Amino acid sequence: MSLPHDARRAEIVVDLAAVRHNVRRIADEVGPDVALMVVVKADAYGHGMVPVARAAREAGAPWLGVATLDEALALREAGDTGRLLAWLTVPGEDWAAAVAADVDVTAYTTAELDHLVDAVARAGRPARLQLKIDTGLNRGGCAPADWPALVAAARAGQDAGHWRVTGIWSHLAASDDPDHPANPAQQRVFREALDAAEAAGLEPEVRHLANSAAALLQPESRFDLVRVGLASYGLDPAPGHTPDLGLHPAMTATATVAMTKRLAPGDGVSYGHTWIADQPVTVGLLPVGYADGVPRHAGNTAEVGVAGTRRPVRGRVCMDQLVVELAGPGEEPAVGAGDRVVLFGAAPDPTAQDWAEACGTISYEIVSRIGGRFARRWVDSEEQS
Ligand SMILES: *Cc1c(COP(=O)(O)O)cnc(C)c1O
Repeated sequence: MSLPHDARRAEIVVDLAAVRHNVRRIADEVGPDVALMVVVKADAYGHGMVPVARAAREAGAPWLGVATLDEALALREAGDTGRLLAWLTVPGEDWAAAVAADVDVTAYTTAELDHLVDAVARAGRPARLQLKIDTGLNRGGCAPADWPALVAAARAGQDAGHWRVTGIWSHLAASDDPDHPANPAQQRVFREALDAAEAAGLEPEVRHLANSAAALLQPESRFDLVRVGLASYGLDPAPGHTPDLGLHPAMTATATVAMTKRLAPGDGVSYGHTWIADQPVTVGLLPVGYADGVPRHAGNTAEVGVAGTRRPVRGRVCMDQLVVELAGPGEEPAVGAGDRVVLFGAAPDPTAQDWAEACGTISYEIVSRIGGRFARRWVDSEEQS
């Protein structure tokens, strides 16, 4: 069910100029010999897949990446014609439409290659096929023990004209911790897998291992291409490690104060009275809650941007609403009913990273889960009006 949502109540604003700026900054950082894949899975981490994909292409991204075939096909339906990789399927999914739409599909197993032969026959054209080796994340991908059989089958299918192997890739377990021993260990396994593929006669266009954090922190992980999601949205993939690249957060989540209220010492706020005023304060009601992707963990921990200051969330976050302290004793609130506050956005307002730290999670989860009854709007701060 998708209702129209009144932007007066709560709104997510996504600045496409920020996305373009970030994509260009990252491209500069990795240099001209490394291709950039902007990862737009999960509705572009909540930023809107189609508008973000357009912005990424405008900024020169030769590749886009998504998890599912459905996401890839939605991009094609929206008119995207560039290189596009999808990497997550289950048995029984129909790959033919993706093959027909010139999507690079990813196989982890020889069973998937058998399935792809059939999809190729129905699509009426050869596939662009990438192979994923599991170098130690122990999530998706081909186990090293099975890799020789996978590359042999991929070579045979290529010789038979079913597909061209366009890429070989893997994914890191601890790229946000550049000193983690998993990084060099996975590099080693990846290089061995590339050697085995080459020995089997495969000559992929792109070999890739790095996500945002690795792209920015481990130059040796860049190979031919980097798959960059979070950093494209202006968020820090490895807080405490990443150099300041001047990236701009693209998303701002705002809500309008529904009403304000004076509380006396001893008044408890929201379910369970987990916060009790010890002085007279003014609180404001915001019409967003955990059903809209505002984490329940933000209760009593996160802060909201109020007219350039940061004000605390008081009490529990409810399904549809939450309470913030707008003014302490002796203060006049800077905003009142009908005024907007910022849940998270760019500093000096709280950022998605601030919310992540307050809630014991990562900024990926903050931006990709916000939604619900927020209206969403795309702006372009560079556009002439
Ligand atoms: C989501 C994802 C990425 C992007 O990761 P970021 O940390 O957001 O850059 C890259 N590769 C794969 C396989 C992914 O699933």
